[in-house]
Amino acid sequence: MTFKDFDLNKQLLQAVAEAGYELPTPIQQKAIPAIIGGQDILGIAQTGTGKTAAYLLPTLMKIKFASGKYPRVLVLVPTRELGVQVLENAQVLGKYTDLRFVSIYGGLGPKTQIENLQKGSDLIVATPGRLIELYSKGDLVLKDIKTLILDEADRMLDMGFMPQIRRLLEILPTKRQNLLFSATFPEKVNKFSAEFLEWPVRIEVAPSATTVDTVEQFAYQAPNFHTKLGLLMHLLENDSLSRVIVFVKTRQYAENIFRYLGRKTNYTIRTIHANKGQNTRLNSFEDFKSGNVRILVCTDVSSRGIDITDVSHVINFDVPTVYEDYVHRIGRTGRALKAGTSITFMNPAEEHHLMNIEELIRMKITVLPLPPEVFVTETPIEENQEILKTLDALKKRADPTFQGAFHEKKWMIKARAEGKKVVIRKAKTVKKKNKY
Ligand code: AMP
Repeated sequence: MTFKDFDLNKQLLQAVAEAGYELPTPIQQKAIPAIIGGQDILGIAQTGTGKTAAYLLPTLMKIKFASGKYPRVLVLVPTRELGVQVLENAQVLGKYTDLRFVSIYGGLGPKTQIENLQKGSDLIVATPGRLIELYSKGDLVLKDIKTLILDEADRMLDMGFMPQIRRLLEILPTKRQNLLFSATFPEKVNKFSAEFLEWPVRIEVAPSATTVDTVEQFAYQAPNFHTKLGLLMHLLENDSLSRVIVFVKTRQYAENIFRYLGRKTNYTIRTIHANKGQNTRLNSFEDFKSGNVRILVCTDVSSRGIDITDVSHVINFDVPTVYEDYVHRIGRTGRALKAGTSITFMNPAEEHHLMNIEELIRMKITVLPLPPEVFVTETPIEENQEILKTLDALKKRADPTFQGAFHEKKWMIKARAEGKKVVIRKAKTVKKKNKY
């Protein structure tokens, strides 16, 4: 099947050819004819599958050319980053049309966005909060919307946008086509899609939570933060890690790694996390995308929907405890038929999580021996206690009768065996300043 097999016009076909798309991806093959045919769609597909073009091409085909003042298509996205990408995609694919695209999102003043809307628009890309804000102030007219697209619906619900979406559904004209795309398909998306879509065509390009086939997945056992840092440094010495996203669980971790690498190396590196202003985040993201920056350290907040092709490696500095985040994280590499690699660092507690992830993705992740150059440091007491506590919690979850071994020091076990009473006094906790 080629793009010419679809009922697309010359302008769109030319843009597709120029974008370098040779063949439609599986989701495009299924979604494009169904959308042109006017049906509602429930698409379960991660970024990297070509889902944006899957909904944009037929939608642009249907609205054809600039008309009227008010938008006819609304693409709702969870984050500004994704909004920027969808807009870019629309501009690329709509290059030979006169269609007007406007994006609206929070984090910066609404003035320019309002001016853009006033010039007239055919398709708008919006985050829910700003959309409702502009609508409420009368700066945005939604009465002509005929197609509503929800991109990354799972993320949108996770981020608590449900009230805004409900409000929006009350505002929009009822006669419209609805397209819902979601990277994963948890129960809440299932429930929401059931009330929102009418007899949708369900398109699942890969079973829910299945990772992109083109990603090679490896893992290393690294007992603690310091050893992980050493391992990261060692891996980065290899130039084949040309464009790397390092995922971490907290902002603090992101900052620590950023500072550490900044002190020890000359690598170009940026961090993205929720504490950074929107503009800083977007600039870092653009620098990484353009190839000016080799390493991007980020938290899961920023992991979804990032569309950067040619990410050579995704490094999970820790194993995400929300397992579906693993899928999102590694989805940044191996995009659109390109090979990619993901490397996960795991301490003993995290090994359990990785096993659960393997079950979820129905794939085995290859564990590699730690390179001999990497120095294994002793785990500091506090960190070790955290690990033991997590292990206890995991064991307890698997076996509710499990008593927990965390407090069981050797002398306690011995004392108990001798029938002695064990008294544990609570130690004073001293808050230590983070030293990295
Ligand atoms: P998406 O899943 O929409 O985030 O798209 C991921 C990447 O794949 C984007 O950079 C698109 O430009 C690219 N892409 C989309 N469709 C195709 C196609 N048919 N062939 C090659 N690349 C594509």
